[in-house]
Amino acid sequence: MITEILTDTDEQNCEIRIIVRGDRWGFNKEFWGIQIDNTITPLYCCNCKTQLKSFYKLNGGRYGQVGTIECTCGAEIHCTDSDNIVEYLDTLTTVRQSLVDKYYIDFTKTYKLDNNSFIAIKEKVGFDIFKKYANQTIDLSAIVRELEVDYGISTDNEKNFTFDKFDHLPKTINKWFSILDNINK
Ligand SMILES: [Zn+2]
Repeated sequence: MITEILTDTDEQNCEIRIIVRGDRWGFNKEFWGIQIDNTITPLYCCNCKTQLKSFYKLNGGRYGQVGTIECTCGAEIHCTDSDNIVEYLDTLTTVRQSLVDKYYIDFTKTYKLDNNSFIAIKEKVGFDIFKKYANQTIDLSAIVRELEVDYGISTDNEKNFTFDKFDHLPKTINKWFSILDNINK
């Protein structure tokens, strides 16, 4: 199911889970390290070509079908995710049942939660998620807090980061992006 997030508290309660895997996975066992299991997403309407104002909560679906959201322009955005572990959201915009366009959201890329980001953090500040949280699942907001408190990395609450077609991102992601910026200063 996909539902509109209406309050800050609701937004804060949406986890962006970081799974630190000890095994390899994927069709050809090509993946290792960090896997994302996400519950919050921005949405983009391919009809009016704008991002919807709210963020949306992803809380499971049947065979990946999570539901349809209506844009203020009248278009419908149909959403499908990767089912058990939510790593992406596939969206398809239609107007009066006819397809306008598709937009694919890869959360690992959109939220910069790939192995490289965590390797950079390990190299710059010494926080080694691969070792410390091996075979565990941890919420991104806990990682952000740990980097702020234990490693003294400041985050910018005011700055709004963007990614591709998205001009606003969830608060935790803004903090995360500002950490990635700050470790390179
Ligand atoms: Zn629209």
